[in-house]
Amino acid sequence: MIISVASGKGGTGKTTVAVNLALSLNNVRFLDCDVEEPNAHIFLKPRMNGKKSATIPVPEVDEAKCTYCGKCREVCAYHAIAVLPESDSAKGNVLIFQHLCHGCGACRLLCPQGAIKEVNRAIGVIEIGDKDAIQFIHGRLNVGEAMSPPLIRQVKAYTNNTKTVIIDAPPGTSCPVITAVKGSDFCVLVTEPTPFGLNDLVSAIDVLKRLEIPFGVVINRSDLGDGNVDQFCQDNNIPVLLRIPFDKEIALLYSCGIPLVQKKTEYKEAFRMLFEEIKSNIVR
Ligand code: SF4
Ligand code: SF4
Repeated sequence: MIISVASGKGGTGKTTVAVNLALSLNNVRFLDCDVEEPNAHIFLKPRMNGKKSATIPVPEVDEAKCTYCGKCREVCAYHAIAVLPESDSAKGNVLIFQHLCHGCGACRLLCPQGAIKEVNRAIGVIEIGDKDAIQFIHGRLNVGEAMSPPLIRQVKAYTNNTKTVIIDAPPGTSCPVITAVKGSDFCVLVTEPTPFGLNDLVSAIDVLKRLEIPFGVVINRSDLGDGNVDQFCQDNNIPVLLRIPFDKEIALLYSCGIPLVQKKTEYKEAFRMLFEEIKSNIVR
């Protein structure tokens, strides 16, 4: 079963929920797909025992074969190629903007001269480790790198169908989140009871409905703010799976990198119940 944990905005407690859910279950594989800022390892403290470079294939042009026809520029949906045609006074040129390239391979496939080959460009690393019964994998995108979906896909390649896979998704509602949650059996949306929380929850729900992924809501700091998130969930038949109150001790544990269920063990049962709720909300 694949459970992703997402939120329409950062800072809602998404990683707290993902980590504590993982620590409350058996036979878990944890994939931290928040590759621009992975932080689940701070709480899980896995013993890392593997590391590999993450790359994407980018085009390289053989100028001896290229006729500067411009076909590669036409097919590139990401505007990663510019072609300067030959003239009487100047040699032609093909410019590849590697940071815009998504490594889709279309230009290589469609070049009529077979003038394009692919070379690997490093975009980050994947690190693998374990913590008791949890197998841990996370991706780290290189600083300044804009292309997180290919790295997220490479982290997700470690999905194991014999385990409960928990995906800590990036915040927001754009391409990285969609890449992370796609294919999940269920998505837990973590929010807070504030106008911002509600606004971003509505956007995240829109994404999940389009992807046809069943979902439920966890309300963090549930006793602060207003009742509009609750009302919205009630009006739209959205299950509220768990409420985590605002608690100074929880905030303190978080600031020390200590998972909630390790010190406040009553939450272990609450997270196990959350898992049961998730299972009962999955329509197979
Ligand atoms: S499609 Fe091939 S031949 Fe045409 S400009 Fe691009 S690399 Fe050159
Ligand atoms: S591999 Fe795809 S994204 Fe990259 S330059 Fe070629 S067509 Fe564009």
